[in-house]
Amino acid sequence: MDNSQKLVLIVEDEKNIVDILRFNLQREGYKTLEAYDGEDGLAQARSQNPDLILLDVMLPKMNGFDVCQALRAAGDNVPVIILTAREEEADKVLGLEIGADDYITKPFSMRELIARVGANIRRTAMAAPAASAADEAMTVSGDLSINTGSHQVFRGGKSIDLTQREYELLTFLASHPNKVYSRVALMEQVWNYGYVGDDVRTVDVTVRRLREKIEANPASPVYILTRRGAGYYFAV
Ligand code: CA
Repeated sequence: MDNSQKLVLIVEDEKNIVDILRFNLQREGYKTLEAYDGEDGLAQARSQNPDLILLDVMLPKMNGFDVCQALRAAGDNVPVIILTAREEEADKVLGLEIGADDYITKPFSMRELIARVGANIRRTAMAAPAASAADEAMTVSGDLSINTGSHQVFRGGKSIDLTQREYELLTFLASHPNKVYSRVALMEQVWNYGYVGDDVRTVDVTVRRLREKIEANPASPVYILTRRGAGYYFAV
């Protein structure tokens, strides 16, 4: 895969981690940028338009969650991978709640990190709208519709703002109506991960966020349903 045009912004205050990330990403062909505090990270995210951001949580001046939240609030859906310490389980969930696409725990294996960077960038590249399909609309169910050309989702004619991952999960399930997918299967299909470990929790959090956005009553969903003990499916 040719990564030469892809730009990764590293926001991390520990210089030795930045050094090893830069070295390995550049070896894979990525271009890199570095920020050592949250404010600079946010400024570079806005001015340099990276293809992906590796975002530490504990940062000087502005923490990683606030950086991610500021980007999402401004409508920036750049893929964000949160870097968390192993013991901070709550961080993973909070990171996904505020719109990060993914998280990886420190200390991480460089092989896994590179794989996740690749998967998240690939997913965005695949999702780039094709000009010829700009008017291709897919009405899926009830008052929910997805325009796969423009990558917009509407409920009752009102546009819904989804992260790339939420959109991918929704369109994947909606394109296989009434078919139940396990969380492991969804990790493989939507997240592109071969090995998932305990990360299936990611699927649950993303489903919950998606329901909060597309369902009139998230506690009693009508679009994305749970088949207890089996997984999730899109009901039509
Ligand atoms: Ca830190």
